[in-house]
Amino acid sequence: MTFRMPPRAVYRFAPSPNGPLHLGHALSALTGFEMARRANGRFLVRIEDIDVVRCRPELVAQVFDDLSWLGIGWEQPVMHQSQRFDVYAAAAAKLRAEGLLYPCFATRAEVHAAAVPGVTDPDGAPLYPGLHRHLSHDDIEARIAAGQSFALRIDMQRAVARALEMLNGAPLTFTELGEDGTHEVLPANAEAWGDAVIVRKDVPASYHLAVVVDDAAQEVTHVTRGRDLFHATGLHRLLQVLLGLPEPLYHHHRLLTDGEGRKLAKSAGDIGLAALRTQGVTAAEVRRMCGF
Ligand code: GLU
Repeated sequence: MTFRMPPRAVYRFAPSPNGPLHLGHALSALTGFEMARRANGRFLVRIEDIDVVRCRPELVAQVFDDLSWLGIGWEQPVMHQSQRFDVYAAAAAKLRAEGLLYPCFATRAEVHAAAVPGVTDPDGAPLYPGLHRHLSHDDIEARIAAGQSFALRIDMQRAVARALEMLNGAPLTFTELGEDGTHEVLPANAEAWGDAVIVRKDVPASYHLAVVVDDAAQEVTHVTRGRDLFHATGLHRLLQVLLGLPEPLYHHHRLLTDGEGRKLAKSAGDIGLAALRTQGVTAAEVRRMCGF
């Protein structure tokens, strides 16, 4: 009889280094790291730098410095999304071959102008009103020949119908782990995103596509991230089903807020970890501020 060790759980922290890490990132990184430690699991860091203009190398180096300073350790090698555009292109090609993606040439201004006021996706962006969903083959070819750039959007209705077929009619769901170890199976509402962009105009990927491809490639079993990404999980589950990828468990942690109850964000000029360190704040104090 052979004895097989159960596979170890895999957790990850996946920052987008388009600004210095702040307290909110520390909470996220510590949540994944501590959950991994308690579960005797593995802990990975993935650099989500598909935004090749905004993600600068010195910010990536700073991510590693900040995490080490916090006492966090991670496995090598670190995956960098900017080196994996061919993998994302292959995943997109698979969806496109199944008629689930279509080119959309519309500009942001055109989408805004055509959108129904007040009807938004879960991020608060105007819901795409289907502008280029039914362009003719000739129109598409003419626009490409004229050098118009395009994004690839998911045909949400078709995609959901296909996923339900693949699930033999079972509902699309995800499992949320609570702080206390409880599991809750929740509906994955991908439709709320409408015909979301799966391949951007400027880079041959999108956050949503890259994150599901890479969580699967790295065999991540536990996705820990902030509640700001809770609704994105619906779309991620849809893509996982369509691409035949395994389903991880999810834990969406609380978000740190400023004095006025607003979510901390790098755009709001919140104090970065490096700046706090320069001011003499210790790693132990940052851990405490994050509730660890
Ligand atoms: N890269 C994303 C961010 O920094 C997080 C991705 C994830 O954890 O799924 O907001």
